[in-house]
Amino acid sequence: MSYRLDTEVLYQGTTPQGIIRNPETPAIYPASAYILDDMEDYLFADKGGRYYYNRSANPNRDELGAAISFLEKGEKTLICSSGMAAISTVLLSLLKGGDHVVMSKNIYGETIEIAEWMLPGFGIEVSFVDFTDPGEVKKAIRKNTKMLYTEIIANPLTLVTDLEAITSIGRENNLLTVVDSTFTTPFVYRPLENGADIVLHSMTKYFGGHSDITGGCVTASAELIDRIYPKYLLLGCCLDPVSSWMTLRSVKTMSMRVRTQNQNAIRIARALADDPHVKEVYHPSLPTHPHHELASRMFDLDYGYGAMLSFRLEDDLDKVAKFMKNLKLICYLGTLGGIRTTFTHPRCAFANNFSDEDLDRMGLAKGLVRISVGAEDSRDLIEDLLQALAAMDD
Ligand code: PLP
Repeated sequence: MSYRLDTEVLYQGTTPQGIIRNPETPAIYPASAYILDDMEDYLFADKGGRYYYNRSANPNRDELGAAISFLEKGEKTLICSSGMAAISTVLLSLLKGGDHVVMSKNIYGETIEIAEWMLPGFGIEVSFVDFTDPGEVKKAIRKNTKMLYTEIIANPLTLVTDLEAITSIGRENNLLTVVDSTFTTPFVYRPLENGADIVLHSMTKYFGGHSDITGGCVTASAELIDRIYPKYLLLGCCLDPVSSWMTLRSVKTMSMRVRTQNQNAIRIARALADDPHVKEVYHPSLPTHPHHELASRMFDLDYGYGAMLSFRLEDDLDKVAKFMKNLKLICYLGTLGGIRTTFTHPRCAFANNFSDEDLDRMGLAKGLVRISVGAEDSRDLIEDLLQALAAMDD
């Protein structure tokens, strides 16, 4: 039967020509919905059979989730529309009114904002403590505590949390331990293998790796992910199929990128530590770092100690601004984890929302500069940094 032009054009070109066998890369499935055979088919799909509606499930998210579950040694992974979507989904699905969560005070600023501004609105109490001191974590636990929440390498001073010590406190007290492992990546450290219950990432960083994807992921046991999934569905924070496909492609080169970036960071940390303009360098690879031994035990040193580092110049904003302008190769960028080296000024990132006294208390000195080390030739990076430091004296 043939239909009129307006009708027929909607049905043309929808069936692949010929047999598509074993493409080297997976297909992209942008469909927001899938045609169902009958009611039985709908009931099967609605019970978790795949696929019928993009927000419920999508092949590209499932493929990416399988790769991340493998990397993190978890059973299932939820793919979210951003790191913040991953964080808010975990907190809002596992905590309820009357619960208490103990959080590291050295975590991503917007995670702190969720905890301070949103969770109390749902009747959830939060205590912030120093997770580099497990004794503090123990002391903060109350009768209604349900969760411990931390990162491994804290931004921007690269303090390292001894996760095994934290997860054993979690187990003793029957608490869930949730880890944002964005800075470490599964190549450097795998929280689930060290007792954590849930690991999450901002995939906007090392998973994407090219500063062109915004995404997040949550990996855990099938039992925990099945508890989170109904809320994930209702919060509607699924990542779109194209970004999921792009992230899976990036994951294939992640090990190479992360290894080079981590090794470059070690070389840059050493070079900066030797420069007279630099008062202090914060990177766990340095023997002077307070958590160097801990990090050396915890991390896979075939990769390194993370590719984020900070260093402190004289606390003179004009001089720091001059240094930043002097850089020829390294750019000022409000993200991290990309393949190109970038820097930020952490104090400036918070200056609109906090007083000078607060910024000092948070350890965000005027002279502090943070670098997200990329995969360029480290000699070019070091030359750029050293010339920019030397030109501060001109
Ligand atoms: N977690 C950490 C450690 C981060 O650094 C960030 C962003 O910088 C996030 C979470 C939030 O990720 P996104 O920007 O993808 O929402």
